[in-house]
Amino acid sequence: MKVGFIGLGSMGAAIAPNLVRAGHEVSVWNRSPEKADPLVAGGAIRAATPADASRGDAVFTMLADDAAVEGVSEAILASLPAGGVHISLSTISVALADKLTEAHAARGQHYVSAPVFGRPPVAAEGKLFIAAAGTPEAIAKAMPLLDVIGQRVQVFGDKPSAANLVKLAGNFLIVNVTEALGEAMALVAKGGVEKADLLDFLTSTLFGAPIYKNYGALIVSEKFEPAGFAAVLAAKDMRLAGEAADSLGVSMPLNDLLRARLGRLVEGGEGHLDLTGLSLLAARDAGLK
Ligand code: NAP
Repeated sequence: MKVGFIGLGSMGAAIAPNLVRAGHEVSVWNRSPEKADPLVAGGAIRAATPADASRGDAVFTMLADDAAVEGVSEAILASLPAGGVHISLSTISVALADKLTEAHAARGQHYVSAPVFGRPPVAAEGKLFIAAAGTPEAIAKAMPLLDVIGQRVQVFGDKPSAANLVKLAGNFLIVNVTEALGEAMALVAKGGVEKADLLDFLTSTLFGAPIYKNYGALIVSEKFEPAGFAAVLAAKDMRLAGEAADSLGVSMPLNDLLRARLGRLVEGGEGHLDLTGLSLLAARDAGLK
């Protein structure tokens, strides 16, 4: 298939090569053009503009936030052929997904929300978990491509923004786990127990899930740069979860707390750190740093 890929940050740069390797003709575009160089060296085509990346059967967007996606959406809408599909991988708002759904439908184009779970190394292996939603026709067009980049795709119905809601709920849980691990590790470390020993014990008994193992290992390693998933993006996601909760009349007091914690990290100039850098707050408050 002729496929466009817009957004070659940590995630996009890891995902797009899998589409090239699968034999698709992939046109890539990124705001900072040098990030396309390794992709082009690997067989992708350099698109001069987002519009040039959108003239094929499908175009992916994997951009930071709503503003970034809105910044390229006019070009995509104007260039994607009728019957083409825009596959939106970014973690964006429910409201923007609804807006894009309508705008693409008005032009006879398809729109699929397909936000992903998994960090860049997982993305590089084509092993993302993907929450997808869109009309059956749109999903049928997107699925062969989603199968290349993910190990599992679950479809949440024909309204694309349902997948965005699932993604925001999942990230809400991920940030909860990160904050909880940070606090638990500060507690034992202050009492003289090795953080690694706590993690090893818990993850080999009651807490065997990848989220505890992987995020816990990152917290123990204290290596928060370069970020795999930047704290500033997690702060954005908790804001989007809060907005979705407000619009649906759902109370999420824990989300309010997490927004304040991430806000403190970002306002302190550490938003570029990995999300697991959130553990620094509990450690510092305990006098450990
Ligand atoms: P990232 O490394 O910060 O990359 C962000 C991308 O967005 C870059 O290509 C950047 O271009 C582009 N961008 C930002 N603002 C833009 C603008 N105004 N106009 C055009 N392009 C703009 O982020 P990431 O980690 O790849 O994350 C991308 C999305 O995936 C986010 O929605 C994030 O929440 C979600 N996500 C991330 C992870 C993860 O573990 N990292 C996992 C699942 C989902 P430049 O290169 O020019 O800056």
